[in-house]
Amino acid sequence: GKGLAVLTSGGDSQGMNAAVRAVVRMGIYLGCKVYFIREGYQGMVDGGDNIQDANWASVSSIIHRGGTVIGSARCADFRKREGRLKAAYNLVNRGITNLVVIGGDGSLTGANLFRLEWSSLLDELAQNGKITPEQKQKYGVLHIAGMVGSIDNDFCGTDMTIGTDSALHRIIEAIDAIVSTAYSHQRTFIMEVMGRHCGYLALVAGLCSEADYIFIPESPPKADWPQRLTQQMSQERSAGQRLNIIIVAEGAIDRDGKPITAEDVKKVVVEKLQQDTRITVLGHVQRGGNPSAFDRVLGCRMGAEAVLALMEATPDSVPCVVSLDGNQAIRVPLMECVERTKAVAQAMAEKNWELAVKLRGTS
Ligand code: ADP
Repeated sequence: GKGLAVLTSGGDSQGMNAAVRAVVRMGIYLGCKVYFIREGYQGMVDGGDNIQDANWASVSSIIHRGGTVIGSARCADFRKREGRLKAAYNLVNRGITNLVVIGGDGSLTGANLFRLEWSSLLDELAQNGKITPEQKQKYGVLHIAGMVGSIDNDFCGTDMTIGTDSALHRIIEAIDAIVSTAYSHQRTFIMEVMGRHCGYLALVAGLCSEADYIFIPESPPKADWPQRLTQQMSQERSAGQRLNIIIVAEGAIDRDGKPITAEDVKKVVVEKLQQDTRITVLGHVQRGGNPSAFDRVLGCRMGAEAVLALMEATPDSVPCVVSLDGNQAIRVPLMECVERTKAVAQAMAEKNWELAVKLRGTS
């Protein structure tokens, strides 16, 4: 059978295990020889025990677990050709020419580069006598399919990334818990949620929790936000509301691109309204815990589709990323999505908010 390997790279997210499981089982079902690559690209560069045979049973009892059971890592070696040369050797040596990468846009950019370089890496390995001319011939094309695992929903081309829905559940559970205590003491709570360049978690959590104010990078407030915030909050209090919830995305900024932190917001509320104000930084709690039903199903569907895409690939098909469009798992050219995601970040850095929001599309 064809050699197929799966790895998870970059930040972990809930639902990655469902995706790994689907890749392994669909691969086996279609007659592939399937491998896990542990610890992301580092495991591919280091080889040895990091690349292990996967069988049907080895992915039992993982679908309900958060994170990734095969490990993830950032890998400086893979950014250099020398590292990628070692990785290519480790794959060819095991007859692996199909690779599923589950990670963020950085991981997918690396995967694309690896594929572009593949034949020149094989040339070099053959010249050095590391692989035979037959191996070079037989394993001459590397096929790649990507899936985006990220709690931030920060990738263009898919409606949802794997992990976002579970992270939202975690955030909402936390806000609900805090609302009950805030109600008792008439407090104001400021919640900092993840999202370095993408305010999706903050925005949706805000909708779900009746937040009074939300700060997200895509829609930086005008300089007079302190006045507007305090005016709104005092109106609400005089109308009988006993608490206030303010949500600040990790990457929130003002129109000059200067960060707006939970501390900045607290200072305003305390100084202008003298309200009892507390900050909660949710941090890694958002990444933790069991994946939601949605993320499990998303992982299953995307994993299966990724393997189908690889099995149908021809030597000149471009690497795809499996995406969710409406209710369909579809294949989109990987680099198109990566480029658009980078364009969003660029537009935001240049303070082109409307363009950034437009480029981001549905996600
Ligand atoms: P994410 O995939 O979540 O965006 P990173 O940007 O940290 O996370 O990327 C994860 C890993 O992918 C990096 O540690 C590196 O090994 C690899 N990678 C990222 N960008 C590149 C690149 N331009 N070239 C080669 N490898 C890359």
